Amino acid sequence: MIPLQLGRMSPTETERMLAFDREHIWHPYAPIPATVPVYPVVSADGVRLTLADGTELIDGMSSWWAAVHGYNHPRLNAAVTAQLGKMAHVMFGGITHPAAVRLAETLVGLTPEPLTKIFFADSGSVAVEVAIKMTLQYWRSQGRPERHRLLTIRGGYHGDTFGDMAVCDPVNGMHHIFNDVLARHVFAPSPPLGYSAAPDQAYLDELSALAAAHAHELAGIIVEPIVQGAGGMRFYAPEYLRALREIADEHGLLLVLDEIATGFGRTGELWGCDHAEVAPDIMCLGKALTGGYMTMAATLCTDRVAHVITSGEAGVLMHGPTYMANPLAAAVASASIELLLSRDWRDEVDTIEAILTSELSPAADLPGVADVRVLGAIGVIEAREPVDVQAVQDVAMDHGVWLRPFGKLIYAMPPYVCTEDETTHIAAAMTAIAESL
Ligand SMILES: *Cc1c(COP(=O)(O)O)cnc(C)c1O
Repeated sequence: MIPLQLGRMSPTETERMLAFDREHIWHPYAPIPATVPVYPVVSADGVRLTLADGTELIDGMSSWWAAVHGYNHPRLNAAVTAQLGKMAHVMFGGITHPAAVRLAETLVGLTPEPLTKIFFADSGSVAVEVAIKMTLQYWRSQGRPERHRLLTIRGGYHGDTFGDMAVCDPVNGMHHIFNDVLARHVFAPSPPLGYSAAPDQAYLDELSALAAAHAHELAGIIVEPIVQGAGGMRFYAPEYLRALREIADEHGLLLVLDEIATGFGRTGELWGCDHAEVAPDIMCLGKALTGGYMTMAATLCTDRVAHVITSGEAGVLMHGPTYMANPLAAAVASASIELLLSRDWRDEVDTIEAILTSELSPAADLPGVADVRVLGAIGVIEAREPVDVQAVQDVAMDHGVWLRPFGKLIYAMPPYVCTEDETTHIAAAMTAIAESL
């Protein structure tokens, strides 16, 4: 048996744990047995992860966009503990509870005004599945099942389940493995790179033409607003999002915005869609929703979407996960949002943006670097060639920083509570990686 450790582990215990892990446990996008090591984290506090041997690392990843307040936060811990004393979970079929209602009130109040109905999902991928299902049911309910395809842009990432994979980028996503079983959607090219880039009329015309050509079979449009995350860490100008809203309105399509990565201030606005001052018909939230404490996501929709679905033949939204609206997750999500709004998160994100911009910019001149870009609390160095993950991770570890590059991308999205010094440290580790290429 592996002892349940609260602090450090002996080298023998650590090696035994890692040996079992290597042979038996899947990690994200990894083979078994593992070909590269995983690092044993035994605790985390503030913005630091502690390894089994006592090494501390500044977390540059916020556990994949989620841990915006850092780890082991007293207020978030207290929210979980208080809820735990009442009930850890209860089914949501035929039952409701205060933690869910309180969170729903908060999210309906905080998201763009037209979004009034909320579905609690148990992961981001499921929230996107629900959004797709809502979009398809919306048309089926109106007797128009032929409107069953989605328009999206290349370079997107929306999750790992089959419905979601079908709208992920067809090249860097998983289409090549599952091509024969994925739904066939309509892909526009990625918008030109650059938050501040002047709108490209030829691209806008291409988008409009594609939508018009397929309008008879389209149900909706799904994109990540402003920042495309795991599909390539690309930023695009708000003008393109406004154009998608107009195209959706022109053809009666539902606009689905996947804010799972961009939500809760990461891009410098509370929601990615705030940059363009547009509201979606359906919005997906996840990742930072619980401050990185637990898995929970949500899909919000307008009165109209809910009304049409409910008045259709099925009469109900056909979805209901076992752990729907889990009370522990809902309680910590409410506490996380309260904490976020109680602090000057905009100033924190702006400060991170300023530091990443000034510290990363010089890397643009390095021979192995194709591009450097920063938006909000997101910093990206794009290499010319795919990086050797193990080699570059070692460089980051030498700098006392946890980073997890993929493909050509060396990127960070630090917890908002990083001090200026800690953010500078993360940028220094990224620059050292770029120098090592
Ligand atoms: C991470 C992510 C998802 C999937 O969320 P999971 O909780 O990992 O299932 C979906 N969409 C976007 C934009 C994401 O960044």
